[in-house]
Amino acid sequence: MPVSAGRDEWQVIVAGAGNAGLCAGIAALQAGATAVAVVDAAPEKLRGGNSSLTKSMRFSWRDSAHLARLLRTSDTGLVEELVAGRSEYANEQYLDDWLRVSGSQVNTALIASIIGRSASAITWMYESGQRWEPRKNPLPGDVPVVLEGGGQGLQDRNFEQFEQLGGRVFHDSALTDIEVTVDGMYHIKGVGPAFPATCAALVLASGGFEGNERMRERYLGESWRDVKLRGVPFNKGVPLMAAIAIGADKAGNWAKCHATPQGILLPNHMLPGQMQESHALARYAYPRGIVVNRNGLRFFDEAADYGNLTYVTLGQKILEQPGKVAFQIFDKAVLDADLLPKSYLEDPASVVAASIEDGARRLFIDVENLVETVRAHPRVGTPPYLFVPVVCGLTFTYGGLSVSPNAEVYGGGRPMIGLYAVGEIVGGLYDQGYPAGTGLTAGAVLGRAAGASAATYAMKIGELL
Ligand SMILES: Cc1cc2nc3c(=O)[nH]c(=O)nc-3n(C[C@H](O)[C@H](O)[C@H](O)COP(=O)(O)OP(=O)(O)OC[C@H]3O[C@@H](n4cnc5c(N)ncnc54)[C@H](O)[C@@H]3O)c2cc1C
Repeated sequence: MPVSAGRDEWQVIVAGAGNAGLCAGIAALQAGATAVAVVDAAPEKLRGGNSSLTKSMRFSWRDSAHLARLLRTSDTGLVEELVAGRSEYANEQYLDDWLRVSGSQVNTALIASIIGRSASAITWMYESGQRWEPRKNPLPGDVPVVLEGGGQGLQDRNFEQFEQLGGRVFHDSALTDIEVTVDGMYHIKGVGPAFPATCAALVLASGGFEGNERMRERYLGESWRDVKLRGVPFNKGVPLMAAIAIGADKAGNWAKCHATPQGILLPNHMLPGQMQESHALARYAYPRGIVVNRNGLRFFDEAADYGNLTYVTLGQKILEQPGKVAFQIFDKAVLDADLLPKSYLEDPASVVAASIEDGARRLFIDVENLVETVRAHPRVGTPPYLFVPVVCGLTFTYGGLSVSPNAEVYGGGRPMIGLYAVGEIVGGLYDQGYPAGTGLTAGAVLGRAAGASAATYAMKIGELL
């Protein structure tokens, strides 16, 4: 029920119906709020955000029985195969992985607190209807389980749960402005049927600014202006800038972003509903071969760490190469052992070459340099060779708002009462690199905390009014 008699007054409004926003909405309803609305810029048929294109969440796990419960299986053999000799994924290991990959300009306390709550957030999601399944052909370091039905399944279940609990979703509703009223409520304006509206607590969950060409150019640099997006075009950073306009503090590295190697046929952006196509464009098997640029030179250590911990470094570096393109090359041993995803071989831009010279000529790579690079790099064996051209695909931006471990937005270093931020709009979680599966987890942990806290606050305000 609305906080007061007005038609457009809510206890809690969440801006953005990705995983983070819907986790916040679900948690707010579970905590007892009865008037909770989620407003989203996308039309209903394109609902789901980047979250609908995802696959897995990284979380701490204690032992294989923990994973077996999540998979609802008593088949211990299956789980033992999945964990491949690992007995647990402890908080300490998770934190070490995150910090090793992310770089130094991060909020370590916030990250540690997210990791510490990752296992319980997964249990909470499971109890709220989420489901997991075994990961097929895991690479070393991969999370052993993935979301059932991938990000599409995740988001379908999130919407279902939110609406079953009585939440209201407004599609085609893009928030543009936030005002704080004299009695401390949030008055939001925008384009679409949800506006104008007022709420006691506002949760911002509208992703980063990756879909905003001008902001990309301004914060990431000129070369990012025309980059292709791996995700949806709706995350333009408007609520992010609206929060800053009312005094929210910025956090994190605004000059960096998550970007990965993608098949050269990646379109300008992807849409919800294209999860399979999106997964088929990933080109993360490079640790099994070498990566060169058009000059035939290596520019990246393919074996520096597990692929799922280095793929962002490679994605970013591709944009710095001549023509903003690179080539992954694999030898006969890799092809014979069937070590590459099917999509590598099915990519119409891939070339199977009888020799290094042949592949280089067909793809306009400097022949002499490439022959020398391969000679100096004995991990590439005998022909035939598979050449796979790759480009950089931008996933999301790292710069965002400063928040407490409870997702309260800081303004002038202090929590802004009733204002929360969750998901990719939060800054300070990544600096240079990104460990796969952490974005959804951070969104779920902070979304859950924000929703519960927003509901409690809104109900208290309701009693006072
Ligand atoms: C192809 C792809 C694969 C990925 N795979 C993984 C993975 O496997 N694991 C993982 O952890 N992370 C993955 N990520 C990163 C992942 O998307 C994020 O960590 C997570 O889904 C972000 O959730 P979110 O709720 O913050 O954003 P989103 O899911 O993008 O949701 C943001 C929502 O805000 C809405 N919005 C934007 N502006 C406004 C506005 N002005 N008003 C109202 N609504 C607005 C958008 O329409 C959108 O629905 C992937 C990303 C991509 C693009």
